[in-house]
Amino acid sequence: MAPDTRGTSPDNRPRVRILVVGGGYVGMYTALRLQRKLRQRLKSGEAEIVVVTPEPYMTYQPFLPEAAAGSISPRHVVVPLRRVLKHCTIVIGEAERVDHAKRTATVTTLATGEDSTGAVEIPYDELVLAPGSVSRTLPVPGLADFGIGFKTVEEAIGLRNHVIEQMDIASATRDPAIRDAALTFVFVGGGYAGVEALAELEDMARYTSRYYHNIKPADLRWILVEATGRILPEVGEAMGKYAVRELRGRNIDVRLDTRLDSCEGRVAVLSDGSRFPTRTLVWTAGVKPAPILAATDLPLTERGRIRCTTTLAVDGAPHAWAAGDAAAVPDLTSSEPGTETAPNAQHAVRQAKVLADNVLATLAGRPAEDYRHSYAGSVASLGLHKGVAHVYGRKLKGYPAWLMHRVYHLSRVPTFNRKARVLAEWTLAGLFKREIVSLGSLEHPRAEFALAARGHAHPGPPEDTPPKDERRPDTTG
Ligand SMILES: Cc1cc2nc3c(=O)[nH]c(=O)nc-3n(C[C@H](O)[C@H](O)[C@H](O)COP(=O)(O)OP(=O)(O)OC[C@H]3O[C@@H](n4cnc5c(N)ncnc54)[C@H](O)[C@@H]3O)c2cc1C
Repeated sequence: MAPDTRGTSPDNRPRVRILVVGGGYVGMYTALRLQRKLRQRLKSGEAEIVVVTPEPYMTYQPFLPEAAAGSISPRHVVVPLRRVLKHCTIVIGEAERVDHAKRTATVTTLATGEDSTGAVEIPYDELVLAPGSVSRTLPVPGLADFGIGFKTVEEAIGLRNHVIEQMDIASATRDPAIRDAALTFVFVGGGYAGVEALAELEDMARYTSRYYHNIKPADLRWILVEATGRILPEVGEAMGKYAVRELRGRNIDVRLDTRLDSCEGRVAVLSDGSRFPTRTLVWTAGVKPAPILAATDLPLTERGRIRCTTTLAVDGAPHAWAAGDAAAVPDLTSSEPGTETAPNAQHAVRQAKVLADNVLATLAGRPAEDYRHSYAGSVASLGLHKGVAHVYGRKLKGYPAWLMHRVYHLSRVPTFNRKARVLAEWTLAGLFKREIVSLGSLEHPRAEFALAARGHAHPGPPEDTPPKDERRPDTTG
């Protein structure tokens, strides 16, 4: 935990503590820029940057679909914060509450509950709120029990393992109903997270099926459910239509203007009346601001984002700043009044730079600058060697778009170390065959030992043994 040294430095000069909540795009890039520009003051103890983050790493989310497909190792889609932010104080924990009137955040850390340490209070002078977003769910029956999200590296790798495990189940069972449900994969939400995840996993599963004696690519059923009439709005209408054609050409069942009504009992019921027994339901139908925002005394919009001015200052709250998915920032490039910048990485990275500069300007008594960025377009991968792109008015599809997707993200993934590792992995993947192994049991490392120990020691299940159907493929339906 960061000791409370606010107020003085070793030689008793006034000290400034900047508290950054969140270690994602905005949190990491803001802290990185502040660290660079405040180097001397950090060294002399005049300033301190504290970053509160639940994970010790920043996740480069655009690489999650490739991590799920096995093209990039999970540890290379994350950036270790302690290494990058050497001069910041990293607190692994979650901000539970922010009382900006008192300039204090209440934080639970990994030690909370383990020992006598309760939640800790971190006082600050400047606050940067960057907790991002969480999956936006709807009250669909069964969703909370069976749905899988796709926002974290754990979810991406868990999903990869799960898909391969379903193929193992389908290969082993003699029951056609179990086999069909295991080989049916339903994705809800046609934004880049859903489309890229589905496209990459379908590609990977089709390739993997060649190593099964009794599964053919045609046995796999992939369904994309989208409530509106288009997918990938980020790449524009024409490229969105191309993506639908490309996916349908691969036998992926794309259902537009369709909603998921229920997934109770592991049966996906769609608004067009169709029903699909399935063991895989991935929910990527949008995001909503992180829950911590509701536990602050800062102003929120109707949609729960934090209300910001054009300088990324929180509206009416001096010394509080916000950006990224959590912040409602006026889009100065839009002709429609009231438009907010979209929740995407492109804005998050650029806002972080302006935000850091504005914090520094305020500390130096200079005026803050407006944030202004017109959306440059997007690139999306649709599996190995396939993609769509619409960047600076140029439309690309197929291999050139996929190549652009890789070049763009390689240039964007933070740190030279990660760029080199990702490039090495892509190069090796081109030389060797694809990885097709599922390491689902990694998620429960104690299960095997607990079973063995249980036989000898005592009859009750050990405390953290997972339920039976999480340990072994469930072939009972
Ligand atoms: C699968 C996927 C693919 C994507 N692909 C693209 C793409 O191709 N192009 C693009 O532009 N955008 C893409 N995005 C969106 C992009 O990743 C987000 O817009 C971006 O990450 C937002 O940055 P952020 O800093 O606001 O939030 P994040 O990067 O999500 O960071 C928020 C951080 O805050 C932490 N946090 C949350 N609550 C608390 C708390 N109470 N206390 C402390 N910390 C907290 C979180 O754990 C997280 O580390 C993709 C997103 C996903 C999920």
